[in-house]
Amino acid sequence: MDIHEYQAKDLLTRFGVQVPRGGIAYSPEQAVYRASELSGDKWVVKAQIHSGARGKAGGVRICSSEEEVSDAATWMLGRKLVTHQTGPQGKLVSRLYVEEATSIAQEIYLGFVMDRKLERVVVVASAQGGMEIEEISEQEPESIIRSVVDPAVGMQAFQAREIAFSLGLEPPLIAQAVKTIMGCYRLMAEMDANMVEVNPMVVTQAGEIVALDAKVSFDDNALFRRPEIAELRDKSQEDTRETYAEDRGLSYIGLDGEIGCIVNGAGLAMATLDMIKMSGGEPANFLDVGGGASPERVLKSFKAVLNDPNVEAILVNIFAGINRCDWIAEGVVLAMKELDLTLPVVVRLSGTNVEEGRKVLDDSGLPVITADTLAEAADSVVGAWKDAKFKEAS
Ligand code: GDP
Ligand code: MN
Repeated sequence: MDIHEYQAKDLLTRFGVQVPRGGIAYSPEQAVYRASELSGDKWVVKAQIHSGARGKAGGVRICSSEEEVSDAATWMLGRKLVTHQTGPQGKLVSRLYVEEATSIAQEIYLGFVMDRKLERVVVVASAQGGMEIEEISEQEPESIIRSVVDPAVGMQAFQAREIAFSLGLEPPLIAQAVKTIMGCYRLMAEMDANMVEVNPMVVTQAGEIVALDAKVSFDDNALFRRPEIAELRDKSQEDTRETYAEDRGLSYIGLDGEIGCIVNGAGLAMATLDMIKMSGGEPANFLDVGGGASPERVLKSFKAVLNDPNVEAILVNIFAGINRCDWIAEGVVLAMKELDLTLPVVVRLSGTNVEEGRKVLDDSGLPVITADTLAEAADSVVGAWKDAKFKEAS
Protein backbone atom coordinates (compact mmCIF):
# COMPACT_ATOMS: atom_id res chain seq x y z
CA MET A 1 0.00 0.00 0.00
CA ASP A 2 1.29 3.42 -0.95
CA ILE A 3 0.72 6.58 1.06
CA HIS A 4 1.01 10.28 0.26
CA GLU A 5 4.16 12.34 0.68
CA TYR A 6 2.74 14.39 3.57
CA GLN A 7 1.79 11.21 5.42
CA ALA A 8 5.25 9.74 4.84
CA LYS A 9 6.86 12.92 6.14
CA ASP A 10 4.69 12.87 9.23
CA LEU A 11 5.83 9.30 9.95
CA LEU A 12 9.46 10.17 9.28
CA THR A 13 9.41 12.99 11.85
CA ARG A 14 8.34 10.45 14.46
CA PHE A 15 11.61 8.68 13.76
CA GLY A 16 13.70 11.81 14.16
CA VAL A 17 14.00 12.75 10.47
CA GLN A 18 13.89 16.47 9.73
CA VAL A 19 11.37 17.64 7.10
CA PRO A 20 10.23 21.12 6.00
CA ARG A 21 7.23 22.56 7.85
CA GLY A 22 4.00 22.36 5.91
CA GLY A 23 0.26 21.88 5.90
CA ILE A 24 -2.39 20.17 3.85
CA ALA A 25 -4.89 22.06 1.67
CA TYR A 26 -8.00 21.07 -0.30
CA SER A 27 -8.69 24.42 -1.93
CA PRO A 28 -6.72 27.42 -3.24
CA GLU A 29 -7.98 29.49 -0.26
CA GLN A 30 -6.68 26.87 2.16
CA ALA A 31 -3.38 26.73 0.30
CA VAL A 32 -2.95 30.48 0.73
CA TYR A 33 -3.90 30.18 4.39
CA ARG A 34 -1.32 27.42 4.86
CA ALA A 35 1.35 29.58 3.26
CA SER A 36 0.45 32.51 5.53
CA GLU A 37 0.84 30.22 8.57
CA LEU A 38 4.40 29.39 7.54
CA SER A 39 7.11 31.96 7.96
CA GLY A 40 9.28 33.08 5.05
CA ASP A 41 8.45 34.42 1.61
CA LYS A 42 8.77 31.31 -0.54
CA TRP A 43 6.58 28.24 -0.53
CA VAL A 44 6.30 25.01 -2.42
CA VAL A 45 2.89 23.76 -3.51
CA LYS A 46 2.99 20.00 -4.02
CA ALA A 47 0.29 17.80 -5.57
CA GLN A 48 -0.40 14.81 -3.35
CA ILE A 49 -0.75 11.78 -5.61
CA HIS A 50 0.66 8.28 -5.34
CA SER A 51 3.44 8.88 -7.83
CA GLY A 52 6.92 10.28 -8.07
CA ALA A 53 8.20 12.54 -10.86
CA ARG A 54 5.47 15.09 -10.10
CA GLY A 55 7.94 17.93 -10.55
CA LYS A 56 8.34 17.33 -14.28
CA ALA A 57 4.56 17.11 -14.68
CA GLY A 58 3.90 20.46 -13.01
CA GLY A 59 2.91 18.96 -9.66
CA VAL A 60 5.62 20.76 -7.65
CA ARG A 61 5.68 24.57 -7.84
CA ILE A 62 7.88 27.03 -6.00
CA CYS A 63 5.91 30.21 -5.29
CA SER A 64 6.96 33.61 -4.02
CA SER A 65 3.59 35.29 -3.49
CA GLU A 66 0.15 34.38 -2.23
CA GLU A 67 -1.13 34.89 -5.74
CA GLU A 68 1.31 32.32 -7.10
CA VAL A 69 0.29 29.86 -4.38
CA SER A 70 -3.35 30.37 -5.30
CA ASP A 71 -2.64 29.98 -9.03
CA ALA A 72 -0.59 26.82 -8.53
CA ALA A 73 -3.30 25.36 -6.31
CA THR A 74 -6.02 26.23 -8.81
CA TRP A 75 -4.07 24.62 -11.62
CA MET A 76 -3.34 21.40 -9.69
CA LEU A 77 -6.59 20.69 -7.83
CA GLY A 78 -9.02 18.52 -9.74
CA ARG A 79 -6.43 17.82 -12.41
CA LYS A 80 -5.43 14.32 -13.46
CA LEU A 81 -1.69 14.62 -13.27
CA VAL A 82 0.13 12.42 -15.74
CA THR A 83 3.67 11.42 -14.77
CA HIS A 84 5.69 8.64 -16.34
CA GLN A 85 4.73 6.52 -13.31
CA THR A 86 0.94 7.00 -13.45
CA GLY A 87 0.19 5.69 -16.94
CA PRO A 88 -1.66 7.79 -19.52
CA GLN A 89 -4.84 8.04 -17.41
CA GLY A 90 -2.97 9.99 -14.70
CA LYS A 91 -3.93 10.40 -11.04
CA LEU A 92 -6.45 12.83 -9.61
CA VAL A 93 -5.09 15.62 -7.43
CA SER A 94 -7.50 16.27 -4.58
CA ARG A 95 -5.07 17.37 -1.85
CA LEU A 96 -2.10 19.67 -1.81
CA TYR A 97 0.78 20.01 0.57
CA VAL A 98 2.09 23.53 1.08
CA GLU A 99 5.58 23.74 2.50
CA GLU A 100 8.07 26.41 3.38
CA ALA A 101 10.62 26.44 0.56
CA THR A 102 14.10 25.14 1.22
CA SER A 103 17.30 26.61 -0.24
CA ILE A 104 19.16 23.66 -1.60
CA ALA A 105 22.93 23.25 -1.62
CA GLN A 106 22.95 19.58 -2.63
CA GLU A 107 20.38 16.91 -3.56
CA ILE A 108 21.08 13.34 -2.45
CA TYR A 109 19.24 10.12 -3.28
CA LEU A 110 18.43 7.79 -0.37
CA GLY A 111 16.40 4.63 -0.80
CA PHE A 112 15.61 1.53 1.27
CA VAL A 113 14.29 -1.50 -0.57
CA MET A 114 13.77 -5.20 0.06
CA ASP A 115 16.19 -7.25 -1.99
CA ARG A 116 14.24 -10.45 -2.52
CA LYS A 117 17.24 -12.47 -3.63
CA LEU A 118 19.35 -11.44 -0.66
CA GLU A 119 16.32 -11.47 1.67
CA ARG A 120 17.72 -8.29 3.19
CA VAL A 121 16.98 -4.60 3.32
CA VAL A 122 19.38 -2.82 1.00
CA VAL A 123 20.20 0.87 1.31
CA VAL A 124 20.86 2.61 -1.98
CA ALA A 125 22.33 6.11 -1.95
CA SER A 126 23.84 8.55 -4.40
CA ALA A 127 25.30 12.03 -4.17
CA GLN A 128 23.56 12.70 -7.53
CA GLY A 129 20.03 13.04 -6.12
CA GLY A 130 17.02 14.81 -7.57
CA MET A 131 16.72 12.57 -10.60
CA GLU A 132 15.15 9.15 -10.39
CA ILE A 133 17.20 6.13 -9.40
CA GLU A 134 16.71 4.61 -12.87
CA GLU A 135 18.25 7.73 -14.40
CA ILE A 136 21.08 7.77 -11.87
CA SER A 137 21.92 4.15 -12.62
CA GLU A 138 22.00 5.00 -16.33
CA GLN A 139 23.86 8.27 -16.16
CA GLU A 140 25.98 8.05 -13.01
CA PRO A 141 26.21 4.35 -12.16
CA GLU A 142 29.49 4.74 -10.30
CA SER A 143 27.88 7.23 -7.92
CA ILE A 144 25.58 4.56 -6.45
CA ILE A 145 26.39 3.28 -2.98
CA ARG A 146 24.80 0.05 -1.77
CA SER A 147 24.78 -1.26 1.76
CA VAL A 148 23.13 -4.47 2.95
CA VAL A 149 21.49 -4.63 6.39
CA ASP A 150 21.88 -7.75 8.49
CA PRO A 151 18.39 -8.50 9.81
CA ALA A 152 19.75 -10.15 12.97
CA VAL A 153 21.05 -6.83 14.29
CA GLY A 154 19.33 -4.27 12.08
CA MET A 155 20.97 -1.18 10.66
CA GLN A 156 24.01 -0.15 12.68
CA ALA A 157 25.16 3.43 13.27
CA PHE A 158 28.62 2.67 11.87
CA GLN A 159 26.96 1.48 8.67
CA ALA A 160 24.96 4.70 8.36
CA ARG A 161 28.17 6.65 9.02
CA GLU A 162 29.91 4.73 6.28
CA ILE A 163 27.13 5.68 3.83
CA ALA A 164 27.31 9.33 4.93
CA PHE A 165 31.09 9.41 4.36
CA SER A 166 30.77 7.67 1.00
CA LEU A 167 28.33 10.41 -0.04
CA GLY A 168 31.18 12.86 0.52
CA LEU A 169 29.33 14.83 3.19
CA GLU A 170 31.29 17.36 5.22
CA PRO A 171 32.07 16.24 8.80
CA PRO A 172 29.57 18.61 10.49
CA LEU A 173 26.75 17.02 8.44
CA ILE A 174 27.62 13.42 9.24
CA ALA A 175 25.70 13.19 12.52
CA GLN A 176 22.52 14.60 10.93
CA ALA A 177 22.84 12.32 7.93
CA VAL A 178 23.26 9.32 10.24
CA LYS A 179 20.14 10.37 12.15
CA THR A 180 18.20 10.60 8.88
CA ILE A 181 19.43 7.27 7.55
CA MET A 182 18.77 5.49 10.85
CA GLY A 183 15.33 7.11 11.10
CA CYS A 184 14.32 5.91 7.62
CA TYR A 185 15.53 2.42 8.43
CA ARG A 186 13.61 2.32 11.70
CA LEU A 187 10.43 3.44 9.94
CA MET A 188 10.93 0.66 7.42
CA ALA A 189 11.64 -2.03 10.02
CA GLU A 190 9.21 -1.00 12.75
CA MET A 191 6.23 -0.13 10.54
CA ASP A 192 6.44 -3.03 8.06
CA ALA A 193 7.27 -0.81 5.12
CA ASN A 194 8.81 -2.50 2.11
CA MET A 195 10.12 0.69 0.52
CA VAL A 196 11.27 4.04 1.86
CA GLU A 197 12.64 6.58 -0.59
CA VAL A 198 13.84 10.07 0.24
CA ASN A 199 14.63 11.75 -3.07
CA PRO A 200 15.96 14.23 -2.62
CA MET A 201 17.44 14.27 0.84
CA VAL A 202 19.00 17.73 0.72
CA VAL A 203 21.81 19.64 2.30
CA THR A 204 20.39 23.12 2.83
CA GLN A 205 22.24 26.39 2.36
CA ALA A 206 22.05 26.70 6.14
CA GLY A 207 23.95 23.43 6.49
CA GLU A 208 21.18 21.08 7.54
CA ILE A 209 20.01 17.72 6.27
CA VAL A 210 16.31 17.68 5.35
CA ALA A 211 14.07 15.08 3.72
CA LEU A 212 12.56 17.16 0.91
CA ASP A 213 10.49 14.37 -0.60
CA ALA A 214 9.38 11.03 0.83
CA LYS A 215 7.80 7.95 -0.63
CA VAL A 216 6.85 5.01 1.58
CA SER A 217 5.14 1.79 0.62
CA PHE A 218 3.82 -0.80 3.08
CA ASP A 219 3.50 -4.55 3.05
CA ASP A 220 -0.23 -5.25 2.54
CA ASN A 221 0.07 -8.52 4.41
CA ALA A 222 1.16 -6.70 7.57
CA LEU A 223 -1.57 -4.04 7.56
CA PHE A 224 -3.74 -6.08 9.91
CA ARG A 225 -1.27 -5.35 12.69
CA ARG A 226 -0.71 -1.70 11.72
CA PRO A 227 -4.17 -0.14 12.00
CA GLU A 228 -2.70 3.36 12.24
CA ILE A 229 -1.00 2.79 8.87
CA ALA A 230 -4.04 1.13 7.29
CA GLU A 231 -5.98 4.33 8.08
CA LEU A 232 -3.66 6.30 5.78
CA ARG A 233 -4.99 4.45 2.78
CA ASP A 234 -6.34 6.59 -0.06
CA LYS A 235 -8.30 4.28 -2.32
CA SER A 236 -8.96 7.08 -4.81
CA GLN A 237 -5.30 6.75 -5.83
CA GLU A 238 -5.46 3.01 -6.47
CA ASP A 239 -6.51 0.90 -9.46
CA THR A 240 -10.31 1.02 -9.20
CA ARG A 241 -10.58 -2.51 -10.61
CA GLU A 242 -8.37 -3.87 -7.83
CA THR A 243 -10.14 -1.92 -5.09
CA TYR A 244 -13.51 -3.21 -6.32
CA ALA A 245 -12.30 -6.83 -6.28
CA GLU A 246 -10.49 -6.52 -2.97
CA ASP A 247 -13.56 -5.04 -1.28
CA ARG A 248 -15.39 -8.22 -2.33
CA GLY A 249 -12.71 -10.55 -0.97
CA LEU A 250 -11.29 -11.54 -4.36
CA SER A 251 -7.63 -11.94 -5.18
CA TYR A 252 -7.35 -9.83 -8.34
CA ILE A 253 -4.61 -7.98 -10.18
CA GLY A 254 -5.47 -5.73 -13.11
CA LEU A 255 -3.53 -6.13 -16.38
CA ASP A 256 -3.71 -4.38 -19.75
CA GLY A 257 -5.24 -6.95 -22.12
CA GLU A 258 -8.75 -7.94 -23.30
CA ILE A 259 -9.15 -11.53 -22.08
CA GLY A 260 -10.73 -11.67 -18.63
CA CYS A 261 -9.65 -14.64 -16.51
CA ILE A 262 -11.37 -16.53 -13.70
CA VAL A 263 -9.15 -19.32 -12.39
CA ASN A 264 -8.68 -21.30 -9.19
CA GLY A 265 -5.29 -21.24 -7.54
CA ALA A 266 -2.56 -18.65 -8.00
CA GLY A 267 -0.23 -21.03 -9.84
CA LEU A 268 -2.85 -22.11 -12.36
CA ALA A 269 -3.91 -18.49 -12.77
CA MET A 270 -0.33 -17.52 -13.67
CA ALA A 271 -0.05 -20.45 -16.08
CA THR A 272 -3.34 -19.40 -17.68
CA LEU A 273 -1.99 -15.91 -18.32
CA ASP A 274 1.06 -17.42 -20.02
CA MET A 275 -1.08 -19.73 -22.15
CA ILE A 276 -3.30 -16.86 -23.30
CA LYS A 277 -0.21 -14.94 -24.36
CA MET A 278 1.17 -17.98 -26.16
CA SER A 279 -2.12 -18.27 -28.05
CA GLY A 280 -1.74 -14.68 -29.21
CA GLY A 281 -3.99 -12.90 -26.71
CA GLU A 282 -3.42 -10.51 -23.85
CA PRO A 283 -4.89 -11.22 -20.39
CA ALA A 284 -6.92 -8.45 -18.73
CA ASN A 285 -6.39 -9.67 -15.22
CA PHE A 286 -5.21 -12.24 -12.74
CA LEU A 287 -8.03 -13.64 -10.62
CA ASP A 288 -7.93 -16.51 -8.16
CA VAL A 289 -11.46 -17.55 -7.07
CA GLY A 290 -10.00 -19.66 -4.29
CA GLY A 291 -11.18 -23.07 -3.04
CA GLY A 292 -14.78 -24.24 -2.58
CA ALA A 293 -16.09 -21.33 -4.63
CA SER A 294 -19.89 -21.03 -4.51
CA PRO A 295 -21.97 -19.99 -7.53
CA GLU A 296 -22.36 -16.56 -5.89
CA ARG A 297 -18.61 -16.21 -5.64
CA VAL A 298 -18.24 -17.07 -9.32
CA LEU A 299 -20.86 -14.41 -10.10
CA LYS A 300 -18.86 -11.91 -8.03
CA SER A 301 -15.75 -12.86 -10.00
CA PHE A 302 -17.54 -12.22 -13.30
CA LYS A 303 -18.60 -8.81 -12.00
CA ALA A 304 -15.03 -7.98 -10.97
CA VAL A 305 -13.65 -9.06 -14.35
CA LEU A 306 -16.33 -7.14 -16.26
CA ASN A 307 -15.70 -4.05 -14.18
CA ASP A 308 -12.75 -3.57 -16.52
CA PRO A 309 -14.12 -1.90 -19.69
CA ASN A 310 -11.34 -3.46 -21.81
CA VAL A 311 -12.58 -7.02 -21.31
CA GLU A 312 -13.90 -8.55 -24.57
CA ALA A 313 -13.86 -12.28 -23.78
CA ILE A 314 -13.71 -14.41 -20.64
CA LEU A 315 -11.90 -17.62 -19.83
CA VAL A 316 -12.95 -19.68 -16.84
CA ASN A 317 -10.30 -22.26 -16.04
CA ILE A 318 -10.92 -24.61 -13.11
CA PHE A 319 -8.89 -27.57 -11.96
CA ALA A 320 -11.16 -28.66 -9.12
CA GLY A 321 -9.82 -30.35 -6.03
CA ILE A 322 -11.55 -28.60 -3.14
CA ASN A 323 -13.68 -26.80 -5.70
CA ARG A 324 -16.68 -28.44 -7.31
CA CYS A 325 -17.13 -28.13 -11.06
CA ASP A 326 -20.93 -28.18 -10.71
CA TRP A 327 -20.87 -25.15 -8.39
CA ILE A 328 -18.56 -23.32 -10.78
CA ALA A 329 -20.82 -24.20 -13.73
CA GLU A 330 -23.88 -22.98 -11.82
CA GLY A 331 -21.98 -19.76 -11.17
CA VAL A 332 -21.18 -19.34 -14.87
CA VAL A 333 -24.84 -19.87 -15.79
CA LEU A 334 -25.98 -17.47 -13.06
CA ALA A 335 -23.53 -14.81 -14.24
CA MET A 336 -24.37 -15.16 -17.94
CA LYS A 337 -28.10 -14.84 -17.19
CA GLU A 338 -27.92 -12.14 -14.55
CA LEU A 339 -25.38 -10.02 -16.42
CA ASP A 340 -26.87 -10.62 -19.88
CA LEU A 341 -23.49 -11.55 -21.27
CA THR A 342 -22.97 -11.27 -25.00
CA LEU A 343 -19.18 -11.57 -25.09
CA PRO A 344 -17.59 -14.99 -25.66
CA VAL A 345 -17.19 -17.15 -22.55
CA VAL A 346 -14.90 -20.19 -22.66
CA VAL A 347 -15.05 -22.68 -19.78
CA ARG A 348 -12.58 -25.43 -19.07
CA LEU A 349 -13.53 -27.70 -16.18
CA SER A 350 -11.51 -30.55 -14.78
CA GLY A 351 -11.54 -32.53 -11.51
CA THR A 352 -14.21 -32.91 -8.83
CA ASN A 353 -17.78 -33.31 -10.20
CA VAL A 354 -16.68 -32.51 -13.73
CA GLU A 355 -19.52 -34.56 -15.32
CA GLU A 356 -22.14 -32.76 -13.25
CA GLY A 357 -20.52 -29.44 -14.15
CA ARG A 358 -20.59 -30.13 -17.88
CA LYS A 359 -24.24 -31.17 -17.62
CA VAL A 360 -25.15 -27.87 -15.93
CA LEU A 361 -23.55 -25.98 -18.83
CA ASP A 362 -25.16 -28.20 -21.51
CA ASP A 363 -28.62 -28.01 -19.93
CA SER A 364 -28.46 -24.23 -19.64
CA GLY A 365 -28.77 -23.77 -23.41
CA LEU A 366 -26.38 -20.83 -23.13
CA PRO A 367 -23.68 -20.31 -25.78
CA VAL A 368 -20.82 -21.34 -23.49
CA ILE A 369 -17.75 -22.58 -25.33
CA THR A 370 -16.20 -25.54 -23.54
CA ALA A 371 -12.68 -26.95 -23.66
CA ASP A 372 -10.95 -29.95 -22.13
CA THR A 373 -7.35 -28.83 -21.76
CA LEU A 374 -5.79 -25.53 -20.81
CA ALA A 375 -4.07 -25.23 -24.20
CA GLU A 376 -7.37 -25.79 -25.99
CA ALA A 377 -9.14 -23.32 -23.70
CA ALA A 378 -6.54 -20.61 -24.33
CA ASP A 379 -6.70 -21.16 -28.07
CA SER A 380 -10.46 -21.07 -28.12
CA VAL A 381 -10.84 -17.94 -26.04
CA VAL A 382 -8.34 -16.07 -28.20
CA GLY A 383 -10.03 -17.42 -31.35
CA ALA A 384 -13.50 -16.47 -30.09
CA TRP A 385 -12.24 -13.02 -29.11
CA LYS A 386 -10.76 -12.46 -32.58
CA ASP A 387 -13.98 -13.69 -34.27
CA ALA A 388 -16.08 -11.35 -32.14
CA LYS A 389 -13.79 -8.44 -33.01
CA PHE A 390 -13.94 -9.34 -36.70
CA LYS A 391 -17.73 -9.47 -36.60
CA GLU A 392 -17.87 -6.11 -34.89
CA ALA A 393 -15.56 -4.58 -37.50
CA SER A 394 -17.41 -5.92 -40.53
P1 GDP B 1 8.87 14.53 -7.36
O1 GDP B 1 9.12 15.21 -8.67
O2 GDP B 1 7.52 13.90 -7.29
O3 GDP B 1 9.95 13.56 -7.01
O4 GDP B 1 8.82 15.69 -6.23
P2 GDP B 1 9.99 16.29 -5.30
O5 GDP B 1 9.38 16.63 -4.01
O6 GDP B 1 11.17 15.39 -5.24
O7 GDP B 1 10.38 17.63 -6.05
C1 GDP B 1 11.00 17.64 -7.30
C2 GDP B 1 12.14 18.62 -7.32
O8 GDP B 1 11.66 19.93 -7.04
C3 GDP B 1 13.22 18.37 -6.29
O9 GDP B 1 14.16 17.43 -6.72
C4 GDP B 1 13.81 19.75 -6.12
O10 GDP B 1 14.80 19.96 -7.11
C5 GDP B 1 12.65 20.66 -6.37
N1 GDP B 1 12.13 21.14 -5.08
C6 GDP B 1 11.18 20.59 -4.31
N2 GDP B 1 11.02 21.28 -3.17
C7 GDP B 1 11.88 22.31 -3.22
C8 GDP B 1 12.22 23.39 -2.34
O11 GDP B 1 11.68 23.55 -1.23
N3 GDP B 1 13.17 24.28 -2.76
C9 GDP B 1 13.81 24.13 -3.95
N4 GDP B 1 14.73 25.01 -4.29
N5 GDP B 1 13.54 23.14 -4.80
C10 GDP B 1 12.60 22.23 -4.44
MN1 MN C 1 11.20 13.24 -5.47
